Amino acid sequence: MRAGVFHGPGDIRVDEVADPRDPVGGEAVVRVVRSSVCGSDLWAYRDISKGEQGSRTGHEFTGIVEAVGDGVTTIKPGDLVVSPFMWSCGTCMACRAGLQTSCPSGQFVGGSYDAGQGERVLMPLADGSLWKVPDGTPEALYDQVHLLSDVLLTGYHAAKLAGVGSAGLDGHPVTTAVVIGDGAVGLSGVVGAKLLGATTIVAVGHHDDRLEIARTLGATHTSNLRGKQLTTQIRELTDGGAPAVLECVGVTGALMTAAAVVTGGGNVGSVGVPHGVEHAAWLGMLFGKNAALRSGVAPVRAYMDEVGPAVCAGELDVSAIASDRYELGELAGAYTAMDNRTAIKSILVVEP
Ligand SMILES: [Zn+2]
Ligand SMILES: [Zn+2]
Repeated sequence: MRAGVFHGPGDIRVDEVADPRDPVGGEAVVRVVRSSVCGSDLWAYRDISKGEQGSRTGHEFTGIVEAVGDGVTTIKPGDLVVSPFMWSCGTCMACRAGLQTSCPSGQFVGGSYDAGQGERVLMPLADGSLWKVPDGTPEALYDQVHLLSDVLLTGYHAAKLAGVGSAGLDGHPVTTAVVIGDGAVGLSGVVGAKLLGATTIVAVGHHDDRLEIARTLGATHTSNLRGKQLTTQIRELTDGGAPAVLECVGVTGALMTAAAVVTGGGNVGSVGVPHGVEHAAWLGMLFGKNAALRSGVAPVRAYMDEVGPAVCAGELDVSAIASDRYELGELAGAYTAMDNRTAIKSILVVEP
C-alpha cells in the first residue's frame, strides 16, 4: 500500500510500504478515506523536534473497517469510523472517566502500528478507540467528520478546561470567553466555546482572513493586535477581562496574554503544546489572581459522543476549518500548505 514516510526535515514522501497484517485480538484494519496534516506534524518537518528517518507519518484518520480481530464487539467490517489521535483501552479508570489520553495502555497513533497518512491502518484496542460514525452520514460531510480525530475536539477541550458553561464565581454559567490563536485549534475553540454556551467570544490572532472565519463560527469580536494594545482591547471588549480564556498556541506570548486577561478566580484552558515556554511572569500573574491554568492532551474519544452526532447530521457546520483538500499522492503539497499557513487544515482524500 501507499503511505507517508519521513525522509528528513521538509521531505515527506508517499512510498510503497507493507500492507497491514491480519488483525488479532482487539485489533482492526481500517481502509482510510480521510487523513490530514496536523500542526504537530510540522515539528519534525521543520526540524524543531527530531524526526526518525523512515518513520511513518500522521496520526489522524477516518475510514471503513475491513477486518477485526477476536474480541472486537463495538465495530464490524463495513462500519465508517473516526480514530482519535491516541488509542486507548476503553475500560481502565482513566478511560471510564472520559480521560482516554491518560490511559496507561494508550499511545499516539503510529509507532509500531501504522500511522494515519496512508491507505490502511492496523489499529490496536479498536473497541476503546475507534468511534463509529452514525449510519447514513453523507460522504459530503466526511471532511468535517474527520475533524473529530483531533483539532475540532482539541479546541472543544480548551473550552471545557477554561470552564465555559460551568459555574463562575457568581454561581452562574460562564458565558464570556477569549480564544487565543487563529489556527485550526483556535477556530475549533471558538466552536467549542459557542457549543458550551458562551455569548461573548473574543477571537485573537494575526491573520485577518482567519479572524473573519472565527466570526462565522461564533466569535462576537476579534482582535489582531499584540502586546499591551491587545490586552487593553480585550479588557474593553469583555468589561474587564474574561473568566474563561482558551490558549490554543502554546508559546510564551500567548500564555502572557491569557494570564493578563483572565479575571480573578478564572480559568485558562491551555491546549497549545508548550514550545520553548519561558520566563514565568505569566505564572506570577495567574498566582496573583487565584486563576487556574488547566492544560492537557484532549481526550477526543470522550468528546466524539458529545459533538460527533451534530457534525455527522450536518447540524454543526465546521467546513471552514477543513480548508484545503489533497489526494494522498499530493502529501508533500499538503505539508507545504500547512507550513506556509496558506491552509488552516490540509485534508487528505484517500482512495484505493
Ligand atoms: Zn493532530
Ligand atoms: Zn484505558
